[in-house]
Amino acid sequence: MLKVRFAPSPTGYLHVGGARTALFNWLHARSKGGKFVLRIEDTDPERSREYFEEDIKKQLEWLGLMWDELYRQSDRADFYGEYFEKLKSEEKIYPCFCDPQKLEEARKKAREKGEPYKYPGTCRKLSREEREQRLRDGQRAAWRFAVPENEDVKWRDFVKGEVVYNTANLEDFVVRRGDGSYTYNYCVVVDDATMGINFVLRGEDHVPNTPKQILLYKALSFDVPEFAHIPLILNKEGKKLSKREGGATVVELHVAGYLPQSVVNWLALMGWSHPEEKEIFKVEELVNRFTVERLNTSPARFDLDKLRYINSVHMKELGFEEFVREFENWIAYVKKEKAYTEDVENLLENVKGVVNRLSKYFVSEKGNVLNLAYLFRENAANFYELVKILLEVLEDKVISDEDRIKFCDNWSKFCEVLYALVENLQGCEWSMESIKATFKLAIKQGCKGKNLYKPFRLVATNLADGPNITEVVYWLGKERVLKRLNNYVKSLSANFN
Ligand code: GLU
Repeated sequence: MLKVRFAPSPTGYLHVGGARTALFNWLHARSKGGKFVLRIEDTDPERSREYFEEDIKKQLEWLGLMWDELYRQSDRADFYGEYFEKLKSEEKIYPCFCDPQKLEEARKKAREKGEPYKYPGTCRKLSREEREQRLRDGQRAAWRFAVPENEDVKWRDFVKGEVVYNTANLEDFVVRRGDGSYTYNYCVVVDDATMGINFVLRGEDHVPNTPKQILLYKALSFDVPEFAHIPLILNKEGKKLSKREGGATVVELHVAGYLPQSVVNWLALMGWSHPEEKEIFKVEELVNRFTVERLNTSPARFDLDKLRYINSVHMKELGFEEFVREFENWIAYVKKEKAYTEDVENLLENVKGVVNRLSKYFVSEKGNVLNLAYLFRENAANFYELVKILLEVLEDKVISDEDRIKFCDNWSKFCEVLYALVENLQGCEWSMESIKATFKLAIKQGCKGKNLYKPFRLVATNLADGPNITEVVYWLGKERVLKRLNNYVKSLSANFN
């Protein structure tokens, strides 16, 4: 059975690149009836944070990428110890007494000169007696893997095709550090093998690790999994996407109020293409059509405008009830969410601010507000933008002369019929029909088209554009609309006096 994994380090918020790796693994498992493992690689206590682990799980869950099994590397010291002993007893690793600081300096010097650096194998040359003596003396040692000489390490990568590394270019890498902690390459192999992972799909940045890992698999007589290394995501300038790029973490997209299905749709297109070149699809369709053979070989571009477009399409497709559920879930999420970095904190504060302002209206007229939100979803790329629009519509505002001039070339014609409009609306029972009938009355009196709807929309809704005017006016409610129209009438007569 196919078994894949996503293995993030909890040293930061779930990044878009990580979420994409998780998605492709999840899709591969789901489309083939396999299992998807989430493994938290928390062996670096200095940089790992529990709240980042929580974020990774929370955002994966939000995206619907649920795992079948969950592991944490910090719980697995016994496994690492067991296989370490095996490598030691078979003399596939050797102790290295070199000063790590000096080695690091040499590595740095080589890097500065632009030369490759390789551990010179000083301690590999020590005699068995000397090694044992130094260990008995309690000398601190790292343990290095004795890389076989001049051997080709090959694999057929699902994305990159055949990859070959000659061991002449590999150094004897460290398996266990002098402080007793195990290295990434070693833990990954022990974990993947003991968890039964048979397909490793991850970012291209791990390609140089793969030959080392294959050597370890072989040394431990484990089956070597298949590999697929996906190209990285580049930013607009064509450089590697940094974690500081706005919207580059999933939490930012969640806080801004994109729909999870849109984020999944967008992530999928960053590295995979639909067999019919479709741009918009639902998750079920993605599961049905996904194959690793269609993973792209060239790097993907990070493009938030594309997400905005994808989300606006998915938003339009939502039925009212589904929309309300998503919107309310998002509000509840934003209210609860806490920030652990400055970037997220700034965004979250702004979003919480508008959500709190909107909450006031939820108390007294929730149904109306939700209906307005449903109408205005077409004008917003995400829920944060939607709430800002709703506040513009709901909060009272004085229409500036500038706006009047900008949006209507015959404002005086509108003002002529305004009294009749107010009177008619005041006297009627509030319904979409009576609102429509009121517009007809204005038309009969010679005020129509742009000269009617634009100024009416501006006075009644505070905005010059928006969805169907009758519906918007209806859900704004009789009291509010009449108050705004009457205030406007009053301001007109004040100007005359
Ligand atoms: N923990 C590694 C990372 O965050 C991933 C390990 C792997 O996929 O092999 O990059």
